[in-house]
Amino acid sequence: MIIFKHTSAIRSYLLAKKATNTTIGFIPTMGALHGGHITLVTKASNETQLVVCSIFVNPTQFNDLKDFEKYPSTLENDVFLLEKAGCHVLFLPSVAEIYPDGAETAPHFDLGVLETMLEGKFRPGHFQGVCQVVHRLLEIVVPSKLYLGQKDFQQCLVLKKLVEMMGIDTTVMIAATKREPDGLAMSSRNLRLTEADREKAPLIYSSLLSIQRDIQAGDILHLTEKAKKLLNENGFKVDYIEIADAATLTPVQEWDGKMQLVILAAAYLNDIRLIDNLIL
Ligand code: AMP
Repeated sequence: MIIFKHTSAIRSYLLAKKATNTTIGFIPTMGALHGGHITLVTKASNETQLVVCSIFVNPTQFNDLKDFEKYPSTLENDVFLLEKAGCHVLFLPSVAEIYPDGAETAPHFDLGVLETMLEGKFRPGHFQGVCQVVHRLLEIVVPSKLYLGQKDFQQCLVLKKLVEMMGIDTTVMIAATKREPDGLAMSSRNLRLTEADREKAPLIYSSLLSIQRDIQAGDILHLTEKAKKLLNENGFKVDYIEIADAATLTPVQEWDGKMQLVILAAAYLNDIRLIDNLIL
């Protein structure tokens, strides 16, 4: 695996590859890699000729400075996992490489209601930051395919919109959420859970599964209210549990029994924020 730190160097390397019609699969990450990231690398490796991964903890997408400062970093292990999974190129840029004119000058994207609902409501500015960094990375890498995880469901919709809006010539590929054996969605933030909270954490996914089991056409609001109560009683601080139209994220309270739905949840255990979702 070749590691690049500078934009100019990776650009010329990838341009030469593109000139020989090599297909590029790209996985943007913030590091502290786990099995979820690795499923994206494996998928890219099966579907494209050259796999490029980036590790960059993007300051503009953190609305909470503490969360940014405490974001785990496990670079040595990340390099080991990526090499083992068949990644060819790792891009490790500095903030100055990504935002050469300063992060304040990064463009603003019109994301419509997607920006202010659910994650957007609880993390103001988050999706602007995500779009700024991914837009910049796509400019540098120019991948044939962009690999994202369903774990960040709203982020997938936002980035599909970005790609469409900006006319970027890349195909967005979405991989299913990889889970621990007890159902907890793999996440870099899981590393920061206390032992007691780690034991509680799978309750988020089991709440989603209970809703899936109980849902019927008609009024469905009581299902999310029940799940929220259960989580709050078990020491979580729930930001939201919502059942929504899987295509638009518009909340659904009366279900016609046909529309494809997604249940989305975000909750804190102490100061660690966990998110998960389930497509029905
Ligand atoms: P992050 O490093 O958290 O920014 O994530 C980088 C990419 O990995 C994003 O597209 C995530 O959605 C994806 N990802 C993170 N966790 C998982 C998981 N448990 N399963 C599948 N994809 C994931």
